[in-house]
Amino acid sequence: MRQDQEDPYQRRSARVYAGADRAVSGSVGSFRGVLYDAVLLDRDGTLIEDVPYNGDPEKVRPVEGARAALDELRAAGLRLAVVTNQSGLARGFFDEDQMRAVHARVEELLGRFDAWLVCPHDDADGCDCRKPAPGLVYAAARELGTSAARCVVVGDIGRDVAAALAAGAAGVLVPTPVTRPEEVAAAGWVASDLPSAVREILRRQEAARPAQVSEPVGTALVVRSDSAGDVLVTGPAIRAVAAGALRVVLLCGPRGRAAADLLPGVDEIIEHPLPWIDPAPGPVDPEAMRTLTARLAAVGADEAVVFTSFHQSALPLALLLRMAGISRIAAISDDYPGSLVDIRHRVPVGVPEPERALSLAAAAGHLLPAGDEPVLRLRSDTVPPRPVDVGEPGYVVLHPGSAASSRACPTELAARIAGALTAAGHRVLVTGGPDERAVTATVAAAGGTDLGGRTDLAGLAAIVVDAAAVVVGNTGPAHLAAAAGVPVVSLFAPTVPFGQWGPYRVPTVRLGDAGAPCRDTRAATCPVPGHPCLSGVDPAEVVDAVRMLSGGGDR
Ligand SMILES: [Zn+2]
Repeated sequence: MRQDQEDPYQRRSARVYAGADRAVSGSVGSFRGVLYDAVLLDRDGTLIEDVPYNGDPEKVRPVEGARAALDELRAAGLRLAVVTNQSGLARGFFDEDQMRAVHARVEELLGRFDAWLVCPHDDADGCDCRKPAPGLVYAAARELGTSAARCVVVGDIGRDVAAALAAGAAGVLVPTPVTRPEEVAAAGWVASDLPSAVREILRRQEAARPAQVSEPVGTALVVRSDSAGDVLVTGPAIRAVAAGALRVVLLCGPRGRAAADLLPGVDEIIEHPLPWIDPAPGPVDPEAMRTLTARLAAVGADEAVVFTSFHQSALPLALLLRMAGISRIAAISDDYPGSLVDIRHRVPVGVPEPERALSLAAAAGHLLPAGDEPVLRLRSDTVPPRPVDVGEPGYVVLHPGSAASSRACPTELAARIAGALTAAGHRVLVTGGPDERAVTATVAAAGGTDLGGRTDLAGLAAIVVDAAAVVVGNTGPAHLAAAAGVPVVSLFAPTVPFGQWGPYRVPTVRLGDAGAPCRDTRAATCPVPGHPCLSGVDPAEVVDAVRMLSGGGDR
């Protein structure tokens, strides 16, 4: 009889090996990073060379630079755990004593880990801890006294990254020669080796923390033009600014206004289009620019923080802000800003948009207050009650559309997904804007309730907050789900990097062909016949993803 058949708890759960000779405390101690508390490392192929089903301590060989890299993490106050699939236990290739001997040897060579989390099952067991399921990540976070969202997982194959995302943790892929190219393409964060992964983890952590927290100001003007999703992902940075200001005024564009109304920390909103940001801009109207400048001057801001995406320029607005008399301006700019900007910040490519914005807030001296996690949030007072006719909480929201058609789910596929989810016993609500009614009607006819055109963004938020999961492309409602803490099945067209635009710090499964020819084109309309990045998604994958994400874990 296999050991994992003796104990029903063990059959479904990861085994925790904290080590008999040490206490695992329930808290993370005095140090608390802005982004991360802990780093969870895969074992074989990540920390040590992969020797299949190894039960022999003599065969343990650390990867190059592992000891020094791990010691850097320890010195920075980060907790370390190992999260490892060891199906060799289930298959009888080695026993627990042999595995403990291997782990002891690993610690002899690499130093101590605060916890060891092992899945002893194989694929046939249907456990919830074997990666890519998120069970080990949740168990490790719990062991270390933190949450999965405050963990970063480092591994060498797609399963490691998928488990991280499914738990709402960050995932770094460190490929080896055996890592499959599609796994590399799908990963949002790739490092060339373990030491580089560690350097980038520490860099991101440090970038979110101000060198010195600035003195509180009276009024701060924050700026985020562009669409709803852009505004939502800037939320954590805006809350950081709000923590150090008596009043926060947000300048946004018409397409982001509804999202701006949902953001905590914003006291007042100015809505004005910025022609150097809008994807389909009107001409620059001198009179409109004079009006905007006067309006900005009337704010009487002590400082301005201008948030942008990596391909947008903050400088035209910085000029208007100078003309409005604002004396302290912070912005990200690779272009030389001259005297337009006081705090010129620069960010490498690939950083998640919320962290990119947080790092600008940090450069300006602003830090999220203790207890406010760097997650997207909605203000509860602006989300209306859920309509009574959508039924009880626990439904699945399927949102097929997107303002950019290249990022929308093909209608035919969305209909098959609706049918498959309904057949699997889910109640499906199909949502979309007023101009997407034909699509939502077609999709809902295959299974589900058609809510097309019935919700504005706040109304959609009211529905999303009670969903078990949201199935959506890379578009505003994905970030709305993240802000509501609702798991996302992300049908992610790779036109922009997943690492920057994927749902942030919420349990996520990414589907679609990440290596499709539209990758990194930023195309608004799919440049490839047949929309191949998404059209190949199997509805059964969506059903499996919803099951895994809504099936619990310990969130
Ligand atoms: Zn397992």
